[in-house]
Amino acid sequence: MPKTSIIWFRRDLRINDHPALLAAIESSEKVIPLFILDKAQIQEAGAKLLAYMGQSLRKLDESLGNNLHIIEGDQVEVLSVLIKKYEVQEVHISAEYERYGAERDARVEAAGIKLIRTGSPYAVTPGRVLKPSDGTPYKVYTPFYRGWRTHGWRAPAVTPKKINCVEPTAEYRSFPDFRLPEGVEIIEAGEAAALARFKEFSKKALDSYDESRNLAGIDGTSKMSTYLKFGEIHPRTLLKGLGEDKAHDTFRKEIAWREFYADILFNNPMTDREYYVPRFAQMRYDKPGAQFKAWCEGKTGYPFVDAAMRQIVKEGWMHNRTRMVVASFLVKDLHLEWQFGERFFREHLVDYDVASNSHGWQWTAGCGTDASPYYRVFNPIEQGKRFDAEGDYIKKYVPELSHLTAAEIHEPWLAGAGYKNNYPERIVDHALERLESLARLEEIKPSQQ
Ligand SMILES: Cc1cc2nc3c(=O)[nH]c(=O)nc-3n(C[C@H](O)[C@H](O)[C@H](O)COP(=O)(O)OP(=O)(O)OC[C@H]3O[C@@H](n4cnc5c(N)ncnc54)[C@H](O)[C@@H]3O)c2cc1C
Repeated sequence: MPKTSIIWFRRDLRINDHPALLAAIESSEKVIPLFILDKAQIQEAGAKLLAYMGQSLRKLDESLGNNLHIIEGDQVEVLSVLIKKYEVQEVHISAEYERYGAERDARVEAAGIKLIRTGSPYAVTPGRVLKPSDGTPYKVYTPFYRGWRTHGWRAPAVTPKKINCVEPTAEYRSFPDFRLPEGVEIIEAGEAAALARFKEFSKKALDSYDESRNLAGIDGTSKMSTYLKFGEIHPRTLLKGLGEDKAHDTFRKEIAWREFYADILFNNPMTDREYYVPRFAQMRYDKPGAQFKAWCEGKTGYPFVDAAMRQIVKEGWMHNRTRMVVASFLVKDLHLEWQFGERFFREHLVDYDVASNSHGWQWTAGCGTDASPYYRVFNPIEQGKRFDAEGDYIKKYVPELSHLTAAEIHEPWLAGAGYKNNYPERIVDHALERLESLARLEEIKPSQQ
């Protein structure tokens, strides 16, 4: 039997810049590339994300000469069977840090299967960037960013020259058949698509990223989030060629937000569901009802909010600017707890990432890190006018308003023909709800407790 090791793929569905894959190749003559379909995780995941994952696995399989072993089952059982059958000597993984992945790996190790960790989905592993003054983790983004840059990261790992794979038998080719819901269009999956998209973004939009990243109606951001989520590209690859000018630095800073939130979640594991600032759990919130339903369906009567909510349902992705606007609307106009929105995003995003999602929500809700102060309430009308001035974004997703001019589209209630195509009326008055949310904030102010 040739010396054999397993490379167990999870959030690292690529072959370039993959230190754990290289470690597996170096340690043996033959490699078993493995992906285990995890029933518990599948039950939790949204249909769009699963469909994307299915496509990504097909692409990874192609890169591996159709040798990807795909097996459904319990991780300990699957690994134990393969280890015995092929006399496997080492199991290699990229380390995982969020609660679910870390607990799963700990369970595998507790069952006696040693996992060799090389690399992680981050440029700097969560937990590594610490304050030089006292060795504790950062709680605020800007000093974290400085510490993160000082810490630095390795250059991308080399591409393997050859991968000698064990050929899978038919029973190990359980490709999932996750269907995309009707009418949904998601981005192309896979490492090649990720690299091609990054090349296109670098050529067309990176140099103006600092300005274009906020404009919802243009293709001004990288769309790397889904590729990063599935590890089809590593952040090191994105960081490698960046310069020091404002546009490049802004892009690097966004990558750093992802790393910051992963670090925060690593140090505060319960904040995937619980308030980072506990006081906010005491605030008066409403219960989700008809208004929540209208938010989910993109029928709030606020065009910029509705366009965004329809975008996420149709594409499994939403522009960062509008993620903030709809999150603020849910928490501060509808007075719902951020977890309701977080769950909706989890169900619909193909780039769903536990750290970025829960902390993106908490930041906007004002109960997270660096809190965007709670009293900052995004104005859904002004945000639309500013970041979708021509109304292109709204027109794309809200066809009932496509007959309106740029001057009319953000306030259909002022336009004579604003409702001629049955666009819904506003479910709340933003000005009044803003005051209501500030009043509720007053009630939990520390000085009054
Ligand atoms: C309420 C809310 C929920 C969010 N949920 C998610 C999520 O589930 N998954 C996710 O990947 N991002 C999430 N984000 C962050 C951000 O909106 C997306 O990463 C970004 O819109 C993805 O588009 P892009 O790849 O074109 O981004 P770019 O603008 O091209 O940014 C490059 C990369 O930087 C990272 N990044 C950018 N902005 C942020 C940010 N604010 N926080 C963390 N990382 C960032 C992403 O990895 C992104 O791919 C959320 C933000 C908010 C406000």
